[in-house]
Amino acid sequence: MVTKKNSKGPELTAKEIKQIEAWLLEERKKIQQSILAKKENDMPEVEVGDDIDIASQSLDKEVLFELNSSAHANLDQIESALRRISKGIYGICESCRQPIPKKRILAIPFARYCINCQSSNEKIK
Ligand SMILES: [Zn+2]
Repeated sequence: MVTKKNSKGPELTAKEIKQIEAWLLEERKKIQQSILAKKENDMPEVEVGDDIDIASQSLDKEVLFELNSSAHANLDQIESALRRISKGIYGICESCRQPIPKKRILAIPFARYCINCQSSNEKIK
């Protein structure tokens, strides 16, 4: 079998996109579950009220908040990747409209930009 060489480099096949979609749906489920689990644990039982406990409690709250906000950020990225799959524009850089290299997509399935645009975005910040 002869493999066609594409000058633009390897692009995602429909099958690969399906696999990524399945993975994204799985990840979304996991994150949603972890958010729900954290909500249930959000009210820690208070037993002793000395200074050390209060300090560690507020620390726990901060950690929980951090975890929750990063979970929500991940969820947003996954949702938007799923939306791009359903629109048929998955794997296309949102900035320069060029296909994102497959290697990058497989490493970061919710990447929205190619490496060039991503790094120039980071320079602006
Ligand atoms: Zn780009």
